[in-house]
Amino acid sequence: MKAVILIPVALLLFSTSLLAVNSTPVNYSWSDYDDWYYKKSASYKGWKYIIIHHSATKAGSVKAFHKFHTRQGYGGIAYHFVIGNGNGMDDGEVKETFRWKEKISGTHVSVNSWEHNIFGIGICLVGNLENNPPTRAQLAALKKLIVKLKKNHKIADKNIIGHKHVKYDDASNKKEQTVCPGKKLELNKLKHLH
Ligand SMILES: [Zn+2]
Repeated sequence: MKAVILIPVALLLFSTSLLAVNSTPVNYSWSDYDDWYYKKSASYKGWKYIIIHHSATKAGSVKAFHKFHTRQGYGGIAYHFVIGNGNGMDDGEVKETFRWKEKISGTHVSVNSWEHNIFGIGICLVGNLENNPPTRAQLAALKKLIVKLKKNHKIADKNIIGHKHVKYDDASNKKEQTVCPGKKLELNKLKHLH
């Protein structure tokens, strides 16, 4: 009688562990890199990181960044999400970009940090957060978005980072030369949300 119950339970546990393995992102390879580098995007391979940026501008919107990044040769807006500050987009408004809708990688960190481009969800807060903190509405929206993404994509707390914490993939292990997302954003308060 016991075996009759135990076998389905064991099968259930086994199948959920398989599902967990399947949802774990695969490791990148050089062909992933080529795919990303030449197309400035790669199709969904799982998300491992949440990488937070600021725009370093007073105003901004998905449309404005899309235009700017296209001109820069980034293959369109670099990020997956933009959170407005009331200048260009509503204060606290969260907008998904084509990268999120189409499940493709970003171009929001250096070409030398391509693992973070391929597996990193890029979120940009409009504003210069080196000089001013985000608005209350922006911060509330960011926290809500992080909680949702963490839950849906099983992203580890340690992988919720600012652009300035991204390291190069080469042997030098150097960080990018950037202050993004600015010192007025308290990143340590964003890591352990639930
Ligand atoms: Zn950045």
